Order: sequence, then structure tokens, then C-alpha cells
Amino acid sequence: MAPISKETDLLVIGGGSGGLGAARMASAKFGAKAMIVEAMRLGGTCVNVGCVPKKVTFNAAALAEAIHDSKAYGFSVQETKPFDFTTFKHKRDAYIKRLNGIYERNLANDKVEYVHGWAKLLNRNEVEITLDDGSKATVRAKKILIAVGGEPVKPSGIPGAEYGTDSDGFFDIDTLPKKVALVGAGYIAVEFAGMFNALGTETHLFIRHKTFLRAFDPMIQEGITNEYERLGVHVHKESSQSKVEKDDSTGKLTIHYKDSNGEGKLDGVDHLIWAIGRSPMTKNIGLEEAGVKLDSKGYIVTDEYQNSSVDNIYALGDVSGRVELTPVAIAAGRRLAERLYGGKQFSTTRIDYSNVPSVVFAHPEVGSIGLTEPEAVEKYGAENLKIYKTSFTAMYYAMMEPEDKAPTKYKVICAGPEEKVVGLHIMGLGSGEMLQGFGVAIKMGATKKDLDSCIAIHPTSAEELVTLK
Ligand code: FAD
Ligand code: NDP
Repeated sequence: MAPISKETDLLVIGGGSGGLGAARMASAKFGAKAMIVEAMRLGGTCVNVGCVPKKVTFNAAALAEAIHDSKAYGFSVQETKPFDFTTFKHKRDAYIKRLNGIYERNLANDKVEYVHGWAKLLNRNEVEITLDDGSKATVRAKKILIAVGGEPVKPSGIPGAEYGTDSDGFFDIDTLPKKVALVGAGYIAVEFAGMFNALGTETHLFIRHKTFLRAFDPMIQEGITNEYERLGVHVHKESSQSKVEKDDSTGKLTIHYKDSNGEGKLDGVDHLIWAIGRSPMTKNIGLEEAGVKLDSKGYIVTDEYQNSSVDNIYALGDVSGRVELTPVAIAAGRRLAERLYGGKQFSTTRIDYSNVPSVVFAHPEVGSIGLTEPEAVEKYGAENLKIYKTSFTAMYYAMMEPEDKAPTKYKVICAGPEEKVVGLHIMGLGSGEMLQGFGVAIKMGATKKDLDSCIAIHPTSAEELVTLK
């Protein structure tokens, strides 16, 4: 191993989306001497235990649905063997490993020094790295970027909760479970529950309220919750768990719970997955000692330029507690590198956190950008809004029986006399791919008239968004 530099211009802690975005641009585009320290694997959460393996699994679930749907079109698809989840899982792991290698080569090409180890601030300019062999190295850096991301929240106060796993553990599962339980109501719980259900696993989803995805527009919350129930996901509403037990001989779990139907016991559970949010990895890395301010939840307090409370220390991505999405972390990293090393023309460059599109890879997919209807009412007043809605069955389902037809629902929220689009919410087949283009229009300040001026593409679902009445 080459000796580790003792000094650098930029030291990035965390080789995930945000850290890579910043270090690569600082070095490759502006010639700064950059070092990245990563404790686990390059690519961070997204590549190793997040977006990428999740989307590959979602694709597998989508194929299971397509095989089912194909019968309605006249195909006679005979499954001679059940879905080989174990082979699929190993292929998925190999793909991620390839990506790790590509990321490492990209760093080398961009002349970023990569150190595998655990980093901790000693003071505002010095970082101690614990290397894989246990030895320690100290590096002096003019600027330090903290991009350490987050980790799944562990439940507290529930005896036996530790028998469950979390989103990281989801990617270790190597045989298709017969029965799973998920607790949580956000992106991860909904995505995982949808995938398991589509792959034929008996799926129980425990939520604290009556709907899930509660940060989304009510149309989405209700639409997707109803659809999951229709698809056969056992949604335990207004639920809590009091105890989890493990049968040592079978490894199966029993969950004692309460839901809107009263007290219950779910046994024979192969995996219990807690998906109740994520928290920043800011403990024991010397932040407080270096004077970096954290908020009450442990996120690093940053201004809109990603400056922390210490003037040569910056933070971005999940650890800054804004929008926890990969492209946000990458964009924040790139903008920061431009601002720090790009000279005068980039001196005010920063990421714009408004109107960030996001997609939940649910069944069907959900896409959302801008304000929800309640948020828009609060901001503009109901009298200043015009809400356009439609609900229909996509043509894909034309050949299918009623029970196989998934709903499509769109809502466009417009404000003011010019009817500026301030929120767009879609659920239905293809929403993930559709939203990106509409996101550009909305980012440019599109009005309802602009949407209408675009000639529809027929026959698609997306055409309904440019013909709303
Ligand atoms: P991370 O990617 O978490 O990277 C932080 C890195 O820092 C990690 O590799 C960690 O090992 C390292 N680190 C931590 N502490 C230290 C230390 N002291 N020293 C050295 N290294 C350290 N987002 C999307 O946009 N689309 C999706 O479809 C999507 N799906 C997701 C699915 C799941 C299951 C999860 C959990 C997340 C998903 N996300 C998705 C969110 C996305 O993964 C995160 O927003 C993104 O990874 C954040 O990037 P980051 O650089 O801030 O942190
Ligand atoms: P989220 O913040 O999306 O959702 C967690 C939800 O779980 C809470 O909103 C809450 O909903 C519920 N919850 C919290 N505590 C408990 C509890 N004790 N018992 C039961 N339910 C509880 O977190 P996730 O972990 O799902 O995902 C983390 C982040 O990662 C997301 O916010 C997103 O930014 C990102 N991500 C993005 C994806 C994408 O882009 N497709 C996919 C996956 C993750 P309620 O208040 O309704 O109970």
C-alpha cells in the first residue's frame, strides 16, 4: 500500500454519493489535492445497501408481475421452478462488487487519494484514520468535508426487537422468505413490502397511522395504501409492537402487536425488518471536539452553502438532514467543490433544495415534486389554488381482468392567476421514468398553460398530464 499523504487540500470523510461527488470534482476538474476516507465500501449506502440493489430487486419483482400479466395477453408462461432468489441475490452482490471496483478506478483516474479506514476529527485541521490493520495515521487538511451519511434507526423499548433486522440486513437475505413483517411507513418499508408481496411472500406491514407515505400528498397516501391492501399486503393500521420472540429451533419469529383490530400475535415470521427512519452517523467522530455544531437529532447544522459552524469544515448529504436522496448528495458535493476550488465564477454556487423530484419504487410507482395539497393551501391559501386531478386505468391493463388492474392517479397543483405548477403528484405504471421530464419543466417555472401547450404523446399515461381539465 502506498504511504498515506500527511497533508491534503480537501479531506473527505465518507465515500458515498456526496463524498465522491465532491472529491472527484475538486481533484479532476480543479486540480485540488483531495483524499477520501471510507470505512466500509465505496459508493456508500446507495450503491451497497440502498438505491442500486433495491432497484435491481424491484426489477425482479416487476418481472414477476410481468410474467403474471403476460397471461392476460395470451402468453402461456409456465414456471417450471420457483424464482431462484439465491442465485439472483448472488448475482446482485457480484454486480455491486463490480460497481465498487469501478468507483475505485474512477477515484484513481481522477487522482483522488483513497484511504480505507475509519476517520475521526482531532481538531479543525487534523483527522485521525484508523486503518484496516489497526494502525493509525494523522492527516492535516486545509478543508474537511463530512459526508458520513446515516444508518437505520433501531427501535427502543420493545423486548426482542433485536431479533429483527433493518434495511442493511434486507440485502443479506439469501432465500425468498415465506412470511415477512415490516415496521415503518416511509420509502423503505413501502418499497420492501411491495417487492416481497410481488415475489409471493406473505407480507405484513405495520404502520402507526391509517396510511403510509404520510409525507406525500393525501392522494398518494390513500391511493397506495388502498392499492397495497388490494394487492394482498396485510397492512396493520394504527399498530404498535409489544414483544418479539424467537423460536430457537426454527429461527422463526413471533410478533406481539396491537392494531386497529385489537391485540394480535403473528407467528412463523422469517424476517422482521425495522424501517423506521435513519439517523446521522455523527457519534464519536470528533465533531463536538472540533467545534462542529449538531442539531438535537445529531445532524450537522449547515447553511445553504454546506458550511458547518467551523469555517473550514463542511457537511452534506444525509448527514446534513435535508433531502435524503443520492442525487441531492451528489449535486451538493459537486456544487461545493465548484464553490471551494472553482474560482470567482463559482463563488456563490450552491445546490437548490427546492423542487427536488423523488420517486418511491412502490407498486405502482409514485412520483412527487413540489408541494403537497395541504402544503400548498398553507402557503398560498385554498382560494389561490387550482387543483387538477385524474384517475384512470392505464392501457397496459386493457387486456386484464378487473382484479389485475392497478390504478393510476395524477394531481397537478397550480397557484395564482398564472396557474404556476407548484406541485405534481403521480402514481401509476412508469411514474418513475415520467417524473424526470416534468421535473425539468417545473424547475423552469412551468404553468398549467405550458403543460397544455405540449402536444400529447398518444397512447401513453403521461399524456393525461398535458390534457388535464
Ligand atoms: P452515504 O451514501 O451513506 O455514504 C456515507 C459513507 O460514509 C458510508 O459509505 C460510510 O461507510 C462512510 N462513513 C461513515 N462514517 C465514517 C467514518 N467515520 N470514517 C470513514 N467513513 C465513514 N436515494 C435515492 O435517491 N434513490 C433511491 O432509490 C434510494 N433508495 C434507498 C434505499 C435504501 C434501502 C436506503 C437505505 C437509502 C436509499 N436512498 C435512495 C437514499 C440514499 O442512499 C442516500 O440519500 C445517499 O446514499 C446519501 O449519500 P451520502 O453521501 O450522504 O451518504
Ligand atoms: P422515512 O423517513 O421515509 O420513513 C420512516 C417512517 O417510519 C416515518 O416517517 C414514520 O411514519 C415511521 N416510523 C417512525 N418511527 C416508527 C416506529 N417507531 N414505529 C413504526 N413506524 C415508525 O425513512 P426510511 O427509513 O423509509 O427511509 C430513509 C430515507 O431514505 C427516506 O426518507 C428517503 O429520503 C431515503 N430513501 C429514498 C428512496 C427513494 O428515493 N426511492 C428509497 C428508500 C429510502 P409515520 O409517522 O407515518 O408512522
